[in-house]
Amino acid sequence: MILEIKKYPDPILKKKTEEVKEISKEIEVLIEDMVETMQKKDGLGLAASQVGVAKKIIVVQSQKGPMAFINPCIVSKSKQKEVSEEGCLSFPGVWLKIKRPKGVEIKALNIEGKEINLKAAGLLARILQHEIDHLEGKLIINHLNFFQRLKTKL
Ligand code: ZN
Repeated sequence: MILEIKKYPDPILKKKTEEVKEISKEIEVLIEDMVETMQKKDGLGLAASQVGVAKKIIVVQSQKGPMAFINPCIVSKSKQKEVSEEGCLSFPGVWLKIKRPKGVEIKALNIEGKEINLKAAGLLARILQHEIDHLEGKLIINHLNFFQRLKTKL
């Protein structure tokens, strides 16, 4: 099922999300719907809060296909940073240059509830950081300084 994507300034986007305690049938269906929604909207990633569910779940589009991560967190970041343009399904038509670590290592549960570690670099690392930010209520505009924010008029 295609879900409705919450757009800025919907207050749920600023909310900190809760950990998933049990991967119930409901969570499985939510993940399936999130993947379908992300693909339909040509997004590279989607966080549960963007579809109105304040839980720590993200889906991302990788070269190997869609991946889902439950309770993801970043365990390490590369010192090297990189600036690149980023969009967000909650900010249609907005593209912002954002500086982020080039590589990250994350820890999460997969859909079977198994703990996994993933090292990512480049675009996938950027998508993971963007989506994990969402789970903390952090949005692309929160990466801008005061003057950059004035310019974007958001
Ligand atoms: Zn986003």
